[in-house]
Parts: sequence; structure tokens; C-alpha cells
Amino acid sequence: MTTVADLRRHLAERRARGGSALTGSAVALVPTMGALHEGHLSLIRAAAAEADTVVVSVFVNPLQFDDQLDLARYPRDLDHDAELAAAAGAAVLFTPDVREMYPPGFATTISVAGVTDTLEGEHRGRAHFDGVTTVVAKLFAMVGPEMAYFGQKDAQQVAVIRRLVADLNLPILIKVLPTIREPDGLAMSSRNVRLSIVERNRALALPAALAAARECWLAGRRDVGEIIGAAKKVLADRGVQPEYVALVDPHTFAPVWGDTAGVVLLALAAPVGQVRLIDNVLLQREPSERKA
Ligand code: AMP
Repeated sequence: MTTVADLRRHLAERRARGGSALTGSAVALVPTMGALHEGHLSLIRAAAAEADTVVVSVFVNPLQFDDQLDLARYPRDLDHDAELAAAAGAAVLFTPDVREMYPPGFATTISVAGVTDTLEGEHRGRAHFDGVTTVVAKLFAMVGPEMAYFGQKDAQQVAVIRRLVADLNLPILIKVLPTIREPDGLAMSSRNVRLSIVERNRALALPAALAAARECWLAGRRDVGEIIGAAKKVLADRGVQPEYVALVDPHTFAPVWGDTAGVVLLALAAPVGQVRLIDNVLLQREPSERKA
């Protein structure tokens, strides 16, 4: 579906039919920018298991791109996306064009303060998260979902959306699913197709850096400089210059100083060739690693 009017009509009909005993007529939204991969499909499958109707939106949102070349080069493959989304359990693929999303005269920005100040907000500029929150708020209003699914891959985005939903009293359950990785550890991303073979190999420095920091933390080190240093060393050894490597509170995204206590998030961003990659890991013990 490409228009808000068609989408609303269709969802109203589906809701009127009442849905199943298990899920009622619940509608789930999975917002994406398309070029779907297993990371997106994991969200769609989880949504399909919990909701009667899964709406997948595919919209490459110009408002959130700080780099016009990145926007122009962003991979697009709607036909393939439609096949993959349907096979994963989506009932509706919503693909508005820019004019449908932002008609002439459009003048409203939804802006979340605080949690957007650091990391991605600092390095990509305020307009990035303003673009994300504006388009997500619009998608919420268009679809009216009971729940919406996001990936931990974009950890700061998750924290920003949670703030948005809490602050605007939106009756939407936010579900967050783990980062899906390639067998060699690289986090799946639509942008990975733009890496050359050599760059694809160098990009493995990101998960390796996260692993080194996690090892350091698991060995009992709690000094922020030491944990970040472990990650930076791996990046430097492999010829990757990060934009940032940071330890933050996973809810507020405020930097953690001195010694870490409780659960912290290690997040990093780095360009590899023409592609800007991000990744993160929560520093916490997995249940299997916890002492009985
Ligand atoms: P995008 O199309 O990149 O804007 O991503 C759409 C949604 O998919 C966001 O909630 C992302 O966090 C999520 N996502 C992207 N990559 C992954 C991944 N590798 N694993 C899990 N979720 C992901």
C-alpha cells in the first residue's frame, strides 16, 4: 500500500473482522528503510507470532540522513522486500513516497531532548534523530499499532523511541530484539552490500572490538578507560578509525565515567570505506554465565 488512506481503510477492515483467539485484532508495526535482511525478518517473524496483522513500512526517510550521498546510495529493492516480508508473516507492506509522507507545507518536527545529545545525535547532528522521531511518530499515527518492533542494533534509537512513547503517552508496546549477525560476527545492515571484499573483511574489526571490550569486562575490569582502550586497540590494529567508542547508560545514553557499575552499553561507530557502520554490546552477564 502506498497511501495513508488505503492503509487506514484496509486496517479498519481487518480490525472489524476481529482477528484470532490468540492475538485478537492486534496490529504490529515494523518500521524499516527496506533492503530487508535477516535482522528485519527477525522483527517481522516476532511480530507475526504476537499480532494478528503485521504492517511493515519501507520508507527511506530523507529527514534522517545527514549525508546526501548516503541517501542517494541507500540500497532499494521493493519487489524483493515484498516477497521477503510476506514470507516472514507481514500482511501489509506500506511504502509511501516522500510526497505522501511529507506533503507540501509539512512543518512539524517531533524532537526528543537529552537521550539524543550524545553519540549518534552528536556525530550525525540534531536533525538525524529529529528525522527518526518525526517519521516514527507519523507511522504510529498512520498505523495505530498496539505494538512496534525495533532492533537492538540501533540501541540509541530504541532509547529515543522509548522516551517518545513515554512522553507522548502513546499506547504502544515497544518490543526490542537482539542484533542479528552474519556467521563471522558482522552485524547485518542494509549498507553492508556497499562494502568491497577487502572492506567487508576490515569491518570485522567492529565485532572484534566489542568482543575485546567484553572480555576485558568479563575479566573483572571496571575502569571505563581500560574497557574503551581494549576496543580502540583492536580497531587501530586493523586499520579502522572510529568516530566514537563510548560506554553509556543504556537508557539515558549519558556517558559513564570512572568505574562502571551495573549494566552499561559499549557503542561504536566507524567508517569503513564509504560506509558508516555502527554496533554495540551490552556489558552484562548472560544467564548461562551467572553464578548459581
Ligand atoms: P533500518 O531499515 O536499518 O532502518 O532498520 C529497521 C529496523 O530493523 C530497526 O529497528 C533496526 O534496529 C532493525 N535492524 C537493523 N539491522 C538489524 C540487525 N542486524 N539485527 C536486528 N535488528 C536490526
